[in-house]
Amino acid sequence: MNWDEFSDWGKTISQWGADYHKSLRERPVRAQTAPGDIAAQLPAAPPETGEAMDAIMADFEAIVMPGMTHWQHPRFFAYFPANAAPPSILAEHLVNTVAAQCMLWQTSPAATEVEGVMVDWLRQAMGLPEGFTGVIQDSASSATLSAVLTMRERATGYSGNRDGLSDKGHLRIYCSDQVHSSIDRACWVAGIGQANLVKIPGTGPRHGMDAAALNTAIKADIAAGHTPAGIIAITGGTGVGGSDVLEPVLEVAKAHNLYTHLDAAWAGSAMICPEFRDAFWQGVNGFDSIVFNPHKWLGAQFDCSVQFLRDAMPQLDTLKIEPEYLKTTGAAVTNYSEWTIPLGRRFRALKLWFLIRSYGLEGLRSRIRNHVAWAEEVCEALRALDGFEIVTEPILSLFSFCCPGDDAAQQRLVDALNDDGRIYVTQGMFAGRKVIRFQVGQFDTTRADVMMAYDVIKDVWEKSS
Ligand code: PLP
Repeated sequence: MNWDEFSDWGKTISQWGADYHKSLRERPVRAQTAPGDIAAQLPAAPPETGEAMDAIMADFEAIVMPGMTHWQHPRFFAYFPANAAPPSILAEHLVNTVAAQCMLWQTSPAATEVEGVMVDWLRQAMGLPEGFTGVIQDSASSATLSAVLTMRERATGYSGNRDGLSDKGHLRIYCSDQVHSSIDRACWVAGIGQANLVKIPGTGPRHGMDAAALNTAIKADIAAGHTPAGIIAITGGTGVGGSDVLEPVLEVAKAHNLYTHLDAAWAGSAMICPEFRDAFWQGVNGFDSIVFNPHKWLGAQFDCSVQFLRDAMPQLDTLKIEPEYLKTTGAAVTNYSEWTIPLGRRFRALKLWFLIRSYGLEGLRSRIRNHVAWAEEVCEALRALDGFEIVTEPILSLFSFCCPGDDAAQQRLVDALNDDGRIYVTQGMFAGRKVIRFQVGQFDTTRADVMMAYDVIKDVWEKSS
């Protein structure tokens, strides 16, 4: 392909993109294909000679698109959103076109400097004090793994990387039972082990960990000769939005000199609204590390996960490695690859710059406020539906409900709704029961889309029961 053809196809694909987004409401949200359907349509072996772009594009439409679940569909109520606002898609086009590998300041100074400023814009937007710096990672899983490795190194006098963990006894990390599985996986991968991740049951209206129980667990571990290494708190757990009350957790951390990480992967976006900070983030300034994903609710195209650090040095002391071929000369600069596990880096900050400039913080806040209000409204409608039960009340824009019947009945309704295609929801477990999760957060959703979900649930339930 030459660059003139690239230009023509770029225009065609942009037009295709606009048409696609405008037609989303007419498409089933979840892909309606069976396992193997797509692979069966692809040649088993690669072509020996090049093919024309129009043939490739035609196959993309005919073979690939039927197998796509439409995450940008306004009636996507499953999992958490992965919003891609149009300006962030355009920024990604530019990043993909310039195609720089931004591992060091000198491998693209603009990528590093825009990243530093975007992290600081978001710090201000979220009400964090000056002094917090940060880095953009691919995912919250990577940021949490970085924080867990930092806990491990800090607790071992920065000797784990060098000497291994064989004589380090049991390092212990604490969290509530509402955390995402990325916390478990970080502890596996860091060599801490699942058995040393201590989960304190969530209690109270937001299912947060009880600080007294946390303190008791830490003291018992110390008495047993274990080494507490850190605490991971959560704002907005994946299952039902479980959120810790932060100040008491931080007091326990301080009493035991423990490193603290806060996973706000989903709910963090809502913290650009001061009223949600008052409700969920009292004391947040005390955390050593905080992660949130602008690629979830805020509107920055996947992937884009921001990790704020109160003091970057412990993480740098854990992860920084500087072989000769990565050394740079001249004035001191920030090389963000020293802050993270992967060396190679995409220019993720550009989409934040486009997004925040296009909508302004007020434009982004008003979306989030609407989502929270509409979630409460549809929750009330479902509460009034005969035999239906709200199992967990809305936490921001996420709640869970049950239809009449046992766990199998919940799964049947989830599957029937997703086969119907007008909306997309997923199931979860809460207090040993299967529940149907419902979150409102898609960038283009409207009140009508959200309230339509009530009609669809009622309709599908009546037809299938
Ligand atoms: N933490 C929470 C609360 C989540 O809901 C998720 C994903 O949904 C993650 C962490 C992991 O996010 P990522 O896919 O960016 O690793």
